[in-house]
Amino acid sequence: MPLKLISLPYPEDALAPAISADTLRTHHGKHHKAYIDKTNKAAEAMAMAEASLEEIIAAAKRKGDKPAFDNAAQAWNHGFYWHSLSPAGGKPQGELAAAIDRDFGSLDKLSQDLKARGEKHFASGWVWLAEKGGKLSIEETHDGDTLALGDKKPLLTIDLWEHAYYLDHKNERPKYLAAVIGGLLDWEFATRNFAAVGMWTYPG
Ligand code: MN
Repeated sequence: MPLKLISLPYPEDALAPAISADTLRTHHGKHHKAYIDKTNKAAEAMAMAEASLEEIIAAAKRKGDKPAFDNAAQAWNHGFYWHSLSPAGGKPQGELAAAIDRDFGSLDKLSQDLKARGEKHFASGWVWLAEKGGKLSIEETHDGDTLALGDKKPLLTIDLWEHAYYLDHKNERPKYLAAVIGGLLDWEFATRNFAAVGMWTYPG
């Protein structure tokens, strides 16, 4: 089965005005779709048309096939990003809330650090909240790189590519980050990822 473009877990206008329907229509319907289509082509060329997205990412990395890796990793990153956002926002719960207080001091401090790292990140990439051995950290990946295969488990991510915010905020990445971190992060998703034994996988 070829990989599918997963549906957004909310209506296209649900994140406005921070992220408009226009942005989501293009970002999800064009950018993410293109990554999926190119990954399906690459998977066919690699005789991996039946493989999971995680298997395709790992194989492309092993072979040093950078175009296939970049498209497959971006297909994964965007699926994870859609789920990292929610119009309901919310707050971290349970063990994740306790780990945030232990490792960052407070949710406010984590939010400040996440925003600062996202602002300073040079050019395109992703900023992540991740976990290893119960310890939380903020991570950055450049361009299409991903935490999907790494030894750190991603809990949340924010897309730092200009296509994520340019229509709504022009060049002002800090405004996009403030709006997303201030009320659109899906802390229930992060709480579930923190509690889970394994890593989130792209729905196949
Ligand atoms: Mn993107």
